[in-house]
Amino acid sequence: MASIETYDFKGKRAIIRVDFNVPLDENFNVTDDTRIRAAIPTIKKVLAGGGSVILMSHLGRPKEGPTDKYSLRHIITTLEKNLGTKVDFADDCIGAQAAEKAAALKPGDVLLLENLRFYKEEEKGNEEFAEKLAKMADCYINDAFGTAHRAHASTTIIAKFFPNDKMFGYVMEGELKAIDKVLESPERPFIAILGGAKVSTKITIIEKLFSKVDVLIAAGGMTYTIQAALGGKIGSSMCEKDQFDTALRMIEKAKEMGVQLVLAEDAVCISEFKNDAPTKICPANDIPDGWEGVDIGPKTREKFAKVIEGCKTILWNGPMGVFEMDNFAAGSKAVADAIAVATKNGAFSLIGGGDSVACINKFKMADQVSYNSTGGGALLEYIEGAELPGVAAIRK
Ligand code: AMP
Repeated sequence: MASIETYDFKGKRAIIRVDFNVPLDENFNVTDDTRIRAAIPTIKKVLAGGGSVILMSHLGRPKEGPTDKYSLRHIITTLEKNLGTKVDFADDCIGAQAAEKAAALKPGDVLLLENLRFYKEEEKGNEEFAEKLAKMADCYINDAFGTAHRAHASTTIIAKFFPNDKMFGYVMEGELKAIDKVLESPERPFIAILGGAKVSTKITIIEKLFSKVDVLIAAGGMTYTIQAALGGKIGSSMCEKDQFDTALRMIEKAKEMGVQLVLAEDAVCISEFKNDAPTKICPANDIPDGWEGVDIGPKTREKFAKVIEGCKTILWNGPMGVFEMDNFAAGSKAVADAIAVATKNGAFSLIGGGDSVACINKFKMADQVSYNSTGGGALLEYIEGAELPGVAAIRK
């Protein structure tokens, strides 16, 4: 494995797997360019070293081959603006035109390839397809952490064609460093704050985290399954009836492992699922029929904030309530505020998973935490202990 810091890019063509899977509005304007901005340092590093760049990415989930809606052409203007240089485009990610344009690249040039997922070979991890991409370049950089948990042609398979000339980009390096810092050498106390909708989707990671953390908050929609399993009344709150045993086992396991498990005590409840519905605060285990919990209540916010502020390493995944609706975002905001306070006092905070990063962005607090992870699924799989194929392909 090579290093982007020391690799000699002079006169070389670098093919970079970036994550340009950005949201577009109905007129195909990029509505959030975070991922494009994130890739700029890696691209600039190659160009500054005297190399040229071939960018490849997916956009959305095209099912039927080439579709204008999913064309990466739509992002060129935003990319050029962020990069401050012209970007050439190949209408097809492989084939004669792409190969010719790649061969003609001069130092300082940038070529963007059309959506990789217009070929089903991409997600299938097809080797010939990967080889066609590889042939256009002298070295390979993977800078797409968000797809590192997938063994796709451009994220994993392609690496074998560059045994000595493959490396991580800065996004990847940053992600891996942040997660390793949290998992391998956390300053204590270490807290994991888990929210989101379901116990079933979070239980593997929660159990994994029990061996790492000192404190674990399990809240959000999980609250009601846990309280129901304990015999509480949860009204019509979201509940996974088939997860009662899992919830009880989680409580037992926390005790066994000596982890302080912190649960929600009260909830903001509504009887009609809309933002301006009248609310009432109920104990999390005593919610009247016809009412459902949609956020953590004031007592819980205070309790969570106190524990969080006392910690030195923080991992947050999953919102505390239905934060997409402004009136039920206060619980997540309280958690974000507490994380910001702890961070200011020297804690390292890692925000992971699409929804928690969306929370932080909604509250405009991205610069008040230590690290916002770009990869939801990839981050969770990494924490769960899985070897990410995209990471392994570079390291091996
Ligand atoms: P996840 O993808 O599992 O992290 O779940 C995120 C989703 O959980 C968000 O869309 C939230 O709106 C939702 N959520 C969090 N708390 C609740 C709750 N108390 N009731 C219903 N949905 C919730």
